[in-house]
Amino acid sequence: MAKLVNLPERRDVDGTWHQVLRDVCYWCGCHYLYAEDDHDLVWEPGTAQEKACSDEDCECHTAPLVGQHRD
Ligand SMILES: [Zn+2]
Ligand SMILES: [Zn+2]
Repeated sequence: MAKLVNLPERRDVDGTWHQVLRDVCYWCGCHYLYAEDDHDLVWEPGTAQEKACSDEDCECHTAPLVGQHRD
């Protein structure tokens, strides 16, 4: 796959770099990141809760996946 320009990169738990895209958490409205080459590989906000957050107990805050696959 061609490498897209101007996308930020994040490292997953295995130390592999991925280009990432932003999306909005379905449950609470906060932004999270997912890998451009693997949409189930996510970086959730954890304690970085946004003003527009509608559920501070959302799992993306209480049990964030950071560079990990969701089930
Ligand atoms: Zn959330
Ligand atoms: Zn939130």
